[in-house]
Amino acid sequence: MPLQEFTSAPSNLLATPIRNLGLKIAGTRLEPIVAEFRQQLERAGIRRLQPHFYLSTEWGVPFDTISIAIPFYLARPDLTALHAEHHGHVEGFNRADILRYLRHEMGHVVNYGYRLYEDPEWVKQFGAITQPYVEEYRPEPFNRRYVSHLPGWYAQKHPDEDWAETFAVWLTPGLDWRKEYEDRPEALRKLEYCDRTLKALADRDPVVIGQELDEDVGDLAYSLEQYYHASKLGAASFRAGWTDRSGPSSRTSATRK
Ligand SMILES: [Zn+2]
Repeated sequence: MPLQEFTSAPSNLLATPIRNLGLKIAGTRLEPIVAEFRQQLERAGIRRLQPHFYLSTEWGVPFDTISIAIPFYLARPDLTALHAEHHGHVEGFNRADILRYLRHEMGHVVNYGYRLYEDPEWVKQFGAITQPYVEEYRPEPFNRRYVSHLPGWYAQKHPDEDWAETFAVWLTPGLDWRKEYEDRPEALRKLEYCDRTLKALADRDPVVIGQELDEDVGDLAYSLEQYYHASKLGAASFRAGWTDRSGPSSRTSATRK
């Protein structure tokens, strides 16, 4: 990709391997937001399950872990601006939006940490975790059987996302979800299940505490220029062009966004 496509970024920044940029959560604007999120969890009664936070290429939780991946470009304002320039939008454009994503990802952490997806009641409310995970899902806008939290009617993507969105709504500070969803009985039943379940788990240690990382920022050998060039080509080229892991590759399918 020609460098002039990024008018705002110096070329040495674009050419540096991402792992050499020294990106961390500590000491950046993400640190107080993560601390605030931990307080939200505490207030919601989630004390035994402490998620692990790390920087990666996008939001997600590797399956069967309690690790939350935060996009690396949120750690520095110039990288956030570069991402906006390239993608046109940023998932986590301000503090409130980052907390919104964290609440969703925490839903996956709770699901995997306590293996809720093995609970017959979970399956009854949300469906089987084994359903194919399709990136190009086709949602039905305003479907009243689902809660609304992230954009894109995201709860309709997969049972795991339906749960994560339901959990995120339940966790939202100051939201009276019973009132908000009183005229949407199916969505409300999911929220009631979530409320019952989290109360029952309050004093239970999680059964899964794995912290394996997927695409940790410290492992990314490719540059920002390569990263944005590959993502512009689309997922198929992304995989075909970088199969040796020396450049940007797609996430393993086991990481749920
Ligand atoms: Zn998700």
